[in-house]
Amino acid sequence: MNIIVRFLLLAIFLFPVLAQKPVNDLKPTVILISLDGFRYDYVDKFDTPAMKALARDGVRAKWMIPSFPTKTFPNHYTIATGLYPAHHGIVENNVYDFGTVFSMSKREEVQNPRWWLGEPVWVTAEKQGQIAASFFFPGSETPIGGLRPHFWRTYNGRVPPEMRVDKVLGWLDLPADRRPTMITLYFSDTDDAGHEFSPDAEETRYAALNADRYIERLVNGLKARGIDEKVNVIIVSDHGMAAVDLRKTTFLDDYFDFELTERMLWTSEIVQIFPKPGKEDEIFSKIGKLDHATCWKKADIPDRLHYKDGPRVAPIVCSSEEGWQTTSHKRYTDYIRDIDDLSQPRGAHGYDNRYQSMQATFIAHGPAFKRGYVAEPFENIQVYNIMCRVLGLTPAKNDGQLDLVRDMLK
Ligand SMILES: [Zn+2]
Repeated sequence: MNIIVRFLLLAIFLFPVLAQKPVNDLKPTVILISLDGFRYDYVDKFDTPAMKALARDGVRAKWMIPSFPTKTFPNHYTIATGLYPAHHGIVENNVYDFGTVFSMSKREEVQNPRWWLGEPVWVTAEKQGQIAASFFFPGSETPIGGLRPHFWRTYNGRVPPEMRVDKVLGWLDLPADRRPTMITLYFSDTDDAGHEFSPDAEETRYAALNADRYIERLVNGLKARGIDEKVNVIIVSDHGMAAVDLRKTTFLDDYFDFELTERMLWTSEIVQIFPKPGKEDEIFSKIGKLDHATCWKKADIPDRLHYKDGPRVAPIVCSSEEGWQTTSHKRYTDYIRDIDDLSQPRGAHGYDNRYQSMQATFIAHGPAFKRGYVAEPFENIQVYNIMCRVLGLTPAKNDGQLDLVRDMLK
């Protein structure tokens, strides 16, 4: 090859690396990355190299225990606030209060601060003079206590994941007085594939490998800036994923008349029942002993779930057995309309957090964390205090105890 051509090729190859200005004045910084539905065992099961490398040189929990119910919004907001869902108000993906229903798809409610109690880490950072930035995280598009992250945007799942990573890297290129120290990122690939194909499917492996490539892209970007050993990267998931057989279904309308209720808030894994006045006992007498779901009167929800003291928790809550669904005939018919083969396994979460399949991922890497440390399982209420400690922030009141996880820190 002609020497000039060779030189040109080398120059083209090196240009992006050389063009990247190093960041020399970094303050303690956290990038919190949520991989939705990335079950605790996917790193090994699907052999994701970038995450393995971070775990090897950092901290990895055997698993992280999600809060009940093991749904997306409650758990993200628990990770952000250190509060159990009963205390931060997002008690399910669907919540009833103020005479109306909050759901993930109702933007005007998602962005209404009245639902979001407690103080998420980006607000703690902003209140204490740091700059927070979010390329998606449940709660980040709502002014909580009057504050949003300095940089934020309305959730749109179609924003290409690589662009999310590049925008975060772009924030780190800002001058020190405008550069965020508390950054969040969110990717849904593994949850989408896990639901559609089951946690054991090859499709889900590919989704996990995609997620791993976003992490690799971020790490490479940090390397190009000379800060891959200076930024603290924390990778979490909100919950795991269980294999589901759609034929394993309990129909609540086979047991009681929905006319006895004021409203029911459904997912197939957790059902919230709001009885009409005086009808609670009548309903409960018919569903107190189901074969594949457990229903509780609110006061009898087990303490280990830290759920019953939530003002927004329904008077009766039903929790499906792992792999089963609890629904109505109408919901079921609507759901399966476009599914050709009911025997094809799918995936679900939202079950009791004692199931191993619901356990979540925690990996942390950076100057604040020990290297090659394997942490015993801990609850996701602990992540908030860890982030505050790394950033030098005074945490707001929360349910976590730093002492239980302090060992992972240098
Ligand atoms: Zn989720």
